[in-house]
Amino acid sequence: MNYVHPIHQAAGHDGYFTAEDNSVFIKATTPQEIQFYQQVQEFDSPNEDDSESSYSGSKLIDWLPIFMGTLSESAITERQIDQIYHVDIDEAASKIPDYIVLQNLYHGFSKPSILDIKLGSLLTDPETTTPEKIERLRKVSESTTSGSLNLRICGMKVYTGQNANSYPVEEIFPNMLDTSIDKHTVDKDSYITFNKVYGRSLDVNNIAQGILLYFKLYFGNHPHGKRIIFNLLTTFLRRFELLYNCLLEYPIRIYSGSLLFIYESDLTKWTEDVIYDTETYETADPMINESLVDEYGQDEDDIEELGDFATTHGIIEKFVPLSSLHIIDFAHAKFVDEELSYDENFIIGIENLIKIFKSLIEQYK
Ligand code: ADP
Ligand code: MN
Repeated sequence: MNYVHPIHQAAGHDGYFTAEDNSVFIKATTPQEIQFYQQVQEFDSPNEDDSESSYSGSKLIDWLPIFMGTLSESAITERQIDQIYHVDIDEAASKIPDYIVLQNLYHGFSKPSILDIKLGSLLTDPETTTPEKIERLRKVSESTTSGSLNLRICGMKVYTGQNANSYPVEEIFPNMLDTSIDKHTVDKDSYITFNKVYGRSLDVNNIAQGILLYFKLYFGNHPHGKRIIFNLLTTFLRRFELLYNCLLEYPIRIYSGSLLFIYESDLTKWTEDVIYDTETYETADPMINESLVDEYGQDEDDIEELGDFATTHGIIEKFVPLSSLHIIDFAHAKFVDEELSYDENFIIGIENLIKIFKSLIEQYK
């Protein structure tokens, strides 16, 4: 198996890799980010006297991409994919690794639409950053919704169907998309990518509509679109509430970390029973938002995985993810003393997302 550059990336640096089968995401990293992933694993590892039952979403580790290990620059060309899963962290740490190997969060999606929202108004750790960088990032924060709402769209990559090239983005939001500056590009693969200028140009008055564009650019034109958008908004709102409660328990500081939103834009995965099954949306675990799709003639691995179920039903049915939410980017994240409590800077951003999504849901009721 070979390493290739990611097909989908909403924001951030270049030079990242995925395995050709999209199973892992390999990101150039810093010792601090690796340490944070390791500390979360330790903090969240099950404790024997821990009799309290924990539900999915109650632990920080539930919200992070799965951490699989690290790689050094030379290894990335040498190692085969099956070996990646067995990289020895201690061995790798003896020389500083250059890459972190993570679960690829868009794996399993057919047409993922991706949104990266950076949280916090303080974008850098005052204890470890140079005065020049503190000043530069303070200005960025002050002039954007980072400063006013502790959140800012860093980038988004949205599927728009076959007609991406002729998509009238400017017509949809004429006031927001100042066409004199390039804030988006129309890709040849039916996607529109919004760069960091887009998020920086939004303010408190249009941020909600700016976020809604991520959901409605494609679904907005579909007969079931309104219902799908409502379902997605509701699911993400529940996730914010869960995540908010989870983060109250963690003595951490995440500077410049992001929430990575993904939803499925392939309409064939949105079966009508999922779209209109209110029961599922009232009771289902919001961490898991998925659909059962009939797939005939799947390969043998799938058949084995589903075992008796597939045999008794005479068909192969497969769970596919419809949306997900994760925290990413821990290059400037750390644990702090227990008595310093939770990360207010980060959490206020989630509080504001809760308000924004509640207002959007009102529009879609
Ligand atoms: P940085 O901003 O420092 O370059 P990030 O961790 O924020 O690094 O990642 C940048 C972008 O890469 C994100 O916006 C997202 O689109 C993509 N990305 C990061 N981690 C993953 C992952 N585990 N799976 C899939 N995509 C990812
Ligand atoms: Mn980032």
